[in-house]
Amino acid sequence: MDTWFADVIIPLKVSQPFTYRLPNDWNGKVKAGQRILVPFGKSKYYTAVVLRLHKQAPLHYTAKYAEMLLDLEPVLTEAHLKFWLWMAHYYMCTPGDVMQAALPAGLKLSTQCTVHLHPEFDFEQSSASDFSVREHALLDVLHQNGSRTPDALAELLAVKTVQPILKKLLDKKAVYIEDVLDETYKPLKLVYLQWHPDCRERLEELHLKLSNRAPQQAAALLQFNALKPQNATAEVKKSALLQHCTSAAIKGLLEKKILQEFTKTELRLDYRSPSRKPFPLSSQQQSCIDSIQHYFKQQLPVLLHGVTGSGKTEIYIHLIQSYLNAGAQVLYLIPEIALTTQLIERLSAVFGTAVGVYHSRFNTHARTELWHQVGLGSKSFCRLLVGARSSVFLPFKNLQLIIVDEEHDASYKQQDPAPRYQARDVAFYLARLYGARLLLGSATPSAESRLLCQESKMAYVRLNEQYASGGGNQIHVCDLTLHRGQYEMDGLFTPDLKNAIHQALAQGQQVLLFQNRRGLVPLTECRKCGYIPQCSQCDVSLIRHKSSGRMHCHYCGLQSMPPSQCPACASQNWSEKGFGTERVEEDVQRIFPQARVGRMDQDSTRSRQDYLTIFEAFASREMDILIGTQMVSKGLDFKHLSVVGVLNADGLWQFPEFRSQERAYQTLVQVKGRAGRMHQKGQVFIQTTQPEHPVIQTLRFQTEDAFYAQLFNERSTFGYPPFTRLLELTLKSTNRDELEHLAGLLGNDLKRMNVNVLGPETPLVGKIKNHHLKRFLIKWPRYEEPQQHRQKIWDALDKIKKTHARWNYRVELNVDPV
Ligand code: ADP
Ligand code: ZN
Ligand code: ZN
Repeated sequence: MDTWFADVIIPLKVSQPFTYRLPNDWNGKVKAGQRILVPFGKSKYYTAVVLRLHKQAPLHYTAKYAEMLLDLEPVLTEAHLKFWLWMAHYYMCTPGDVMQAALPAGLKLSTQCTVHLHPEFDFEQSSASDFSVREHALLDVLHQNGSRTPDALAELLAVKTVQPILKKLLDKKAVYIEDVLDETYKPLKLVYLQWHPDCRERLEELHLKLSNRAPQQAAALLQFNALKPQNATAEVKKSALLQHCTSAAIKGLLEKKILQEFTKTELRLDYRSPSRKPFPLSSQQQSCIDSIQHYFKQQLPVLLHGVTGSGKTEIYIHLIQSYLNAGAQVLYLIPEIALTTQLIERLSAVFGTAVGVYHSRFNTHARTELWHQVGLGSKSFCRLLVGARSSVFLPFKNLQLIIVDEEHDASYKQQDPAPRYQARDVAFYLARLYGARLLLGSATPSAESRLLCQESKMAYVRLNEQYASGGGNQIHVCDLTLHRGQYEMDGLFTPDLKNAIHQALAQGQQVLLFQNRRGLVPLTECRKCGYIPQCSQCDVSLIRHKSSGRMHCHYCGLQSMPPSQCPACASQNWSEKGFGTERVEEDVQRIFPQARVGRMDQDSTRSRQDYLTIFEAFASREMDILIGTQMVSKGLDFKHLSVVGVLNADGLWQFPEFRSQERAYQTLVQVKGRAGRMHQKGQVFIQTTQPEHPVIQTLRFQTEDAFYAQLFNERSTFGYPPFTRLLELTLKSTNRDELEHLAGLLGNDLKRMNVNVLGPETPLVGKIKNHHLKRFLIKWPRYEEPQQHRQKIWDALDKIKKTHARWNYRVELNVDPV
């Protein structure tokens, strides 16, 4: 009989697929895309995904047998496998990295072995002299606590490893070891209670009977009756009844056959029914849809450039509806899920249960369930998938439309760990792979997308009118230098902004204040010697926070008490530079004591719930002034917001980064777009020391095209995206000397291979969590076949890996960094 082998992907950093031998009785049962369990190393097992079946034994090693077949049908189609391999290749990571990112945890099985007392061994009758102290202790733990994993035993016994002890106990037949597979995804099973058919509706009689001898059961029965819905099912969740009575009482009722219980498998996904039809479109909106459809017919991706509040979302809704009606799946990508409560509500109102939300922060069961649903294709009830970047990995069957909302947003890029993919760019590949249409939307399209439109690789559709008439914004630029010089500042506020806030509050309107730094004081400096408190693990200065009363490192989270005297010169005289959201809050409370104030930044929104609470409070006008970082600039739609203040715009472009001007401009347009969304004009105040800065001028005089023309000019001259491709290569090590040495070698090798490389350089933050960093920037022309460039880099890295096998360093590759 022929022996079959399978090449598989394992969720590890190995670049080549591994080959396993398949047991003979699996013949005909294994296909590409199925998951199998494979042994790896000495004692580990991994879930692997089958890439391909063949009959060639590997040349350099003896293939091990695969252990277990985990699926009867493939969980991934060939298209997905192709997608995974493409991503690994393009973003220069391993297929295992992609697998880690792509499969929800529920589909990545873990194996654990469990240690049990041997059934023929009687602990109580055993004699202590048969065992060593440690062996006895381990047996005692098992006897007391039941079966345990080796790791748990080691922890309970406070030893590093229990393997030697276990080995002896196995020989003595006191324990046995069982390999159990912990199938992490479990469908949600709920226990329900209903009347036992024999007792149905005899409430009063039974209650009377019970009240003497079992008053608790009598009370529980009354509760059951109260909770029981009046419909035909008449069933009550056991967990609901348990809120009102003890489990003993319920047990009694079950034993007496008064009630009976049964279980139901439930989906964790919500069921909702639609409550409205899409709004009729304005004529502008309608002609946009017509153009989009027209370009779609020509197989072109489309960029929808629509000012904030123009009703892009409404256009998406109409498009989505036509695709859903045709039975297709739609992927709606959004930058960050936390910011999308309003969007999900809007979509659910029209599409009800057809909306599925996928996000890596959701619990694994919900994600796994959604994954299975998506795999059902047009048979699935949720066919509009809304999600942040990781939803590109869902196992679509019939994907025909992809929408990338706010396509310019940097959070489409995954930073860590690998794969460092950019979901917007991946969407282009996905659209080709599935033959789907692609629509990008933004009020501030990225340079990348603008260039594609200029080159006619993407169609351009413009919507330059706000939906609601009479809205829009008036921009006021406030010169900080001028007002400071004339001593007109009140704390952080120029007179104009302060007056506007007073007025808005008097009229019951709301105010949004934007500052892109969190904390209280970003920079503390000794006045005498210039010493700046730094993080002990990272190369950054510490930021003082009010809420904790401590200094925080924004890179590693380390906190310390603010020094009272300077460790360098013992002076106690500190100067404070810059300000964060907490300082804004202090000033607001002082200047507008009557206002109800909220703050939204990373510190005040540790959980999604925190975010929702603040958001709801502002939406329901329980709050007058909202202060926030970048978080408040995106996508929010508040009807009573009339004043937006940017406290210090300078901070937006003061980064030594080629994208800083573009970013600053996009952020200001987005922040500004939060006001004046309905029929009233919004007032936007931008405080800055550089009123003549190009970003401010562009905003003021609406000369966006000229701004981008200038930007393109610079970027093509100096060789930056979108005209040039970038690859960032970072070496990390705790040993600074070794790092210097390696970086030097690598740099020389790359240059010798004619790679266009800058560096090695120490990045702006040169040490993070005690790891020193060295960075290279590698460039190649946009339309040059990148394979030869990639290969040179792999070769150079392989070479230093061979010559420095024992050195402890890490390499991170970031293709198309943002
Ligand atoms: P954008 O996504 O472009 O910022 P939205 O789609 O959020 O704009 O629209 C802005 C506001 O106008 C929202 O409150 C939305 O409900 C409303 N709106 C947009 N188009 C319509 C329409 N055709 N009918 C009714 N209201 C609309
Ligand atoms: Zn000092
Ligand atoms: Zn730190």
